[in-house]
Amino acid sequence: MDNKTEITSLGEFGLINHLTKDNKISHPETIKAIGDDAAVIDAGDKYMLVSTDLLLEGIHFDLSYCPLKHLGYKSIIVNLSDIYAMNGQPKQVTVSIGLSNRFSLEAIEELYKGIYLACKQYNVDLVGGDTSSSRQGLIISVTAIGEVKKEKITYRSGAKPNDLLVVSGDLGGSFMGLQILEREKSVFTENPKVQPDLGGNDYVLERQLKPEARKDVIEQLELLQIKPTSMIDISDGLASETIHLCQQSECGASIYDEKIPIDPTTYNLARDFELDPSVIALNGGEDYELLFTIAQSDYDKIKGSPFFTIIGHITDKSLGINLIAKNGTSHELTAQGWDAFLRKQKGL
Ligand code: ADP
Ligand code: MG
Repeated sequence: MDNKTEITSLGEFGLINHLTKDNKISHPETIKAIGDDAAVIDAGDKYMLVSTDLLLEGIHFDLSYCPLKHLGYKSIIVNLSDIYAMNGQPKQVTVSIGLSNRFSLEAIEELYKGIYLACKQYNVDLVGGDTSSSRQGLIISVTAIGEVKKEKITYRSGAKPNDLLVVSGDLGGSFMGLQILEREKSVFTENPKVQPDLGGNDYVLERQLKPEARKDVIEQLELLQIKPTSMIDISDGLASETIHLCQQSECGASIYDEKIPIDPTTYNLARDFELDPSVIALNGGEDYELLFTIAQSDYDKIKGSPFFTIIGHITDKSLGINLIAKNGTSHELTAQGWDAFLRKQKGL
């Protein structure tokens, strides 16, 4: 016990792997334990899905610009997104909170207004939780429970070479929303008389402060009679999630830079901030879009759909995971995804 290893040397995923590599499963009902967006449990004629997320003040949110109602809404959304990523439907949530004495009843009521609104919008029931005091700041932990027909379950691990790599919506907006909020916060900190300039950026601000989970995408897939071969939700960034999907599927991938969907607002803002829009779309987190693969034979079902963009294809593992630039050059994709430990190191 004398050795002391810095946790930052492992990173978030290295730490999870280290702690869970000898995890033993003893129940036949435990179909999938760690390593996907949700755990999968045999519930008779269906699978039950369970996913949990922890949100900490100062790490995942900043109350100086995140309204509590939005935070409540977002804390539910981020969990529902993981259930949709299994091609499932969320049914229940539990919500646990830790509160410092800084928070009034009215403040926590605001948080719960957002929680109830998300529950209503997505038709999920709040069924429990836990409440505690906290030494510092606000802590929110949500667990989502859902279900999926056995034949519809979609893991991260089913992608095969030549499958098409598809993403819903557009990417990078949430990150640019955060940049605007951080910029206005620092202007305000330096000169409290200056009012924040948030005008014209509603789209990216909403992506950051009040994201949605892609329930509609799951419904669309059902309508088009498409069962993805693999799926993951984009919480950390396209690059990081593509790497997870390829690792679990034991394959490689080629992503075409020019195909990555970026909203014009996001694109122009990235330029204003002197950032590369592609880098933002690849590595900015919290978009909560779905990344999935489909068999080539399903191409006709998806082409022309406003919901989806084909951004590349799956390759043999030996070819690695590559980003093909507009000029045709190929670079190995590396993840600079959002990692709480890294962010902390950067002092964010
Ligand atoms: P997501 O980004 O989809 O929420 P994570 O990257 O947080 O997924 O987690 C990846 C996997 O590791 C999940 O299966 C999750 O349940 C599991 N996991 C994360 N932290 C722990 C932990 N401390 N102990 C056990 N399993 C964990
Ligand atoms: Mg996920």
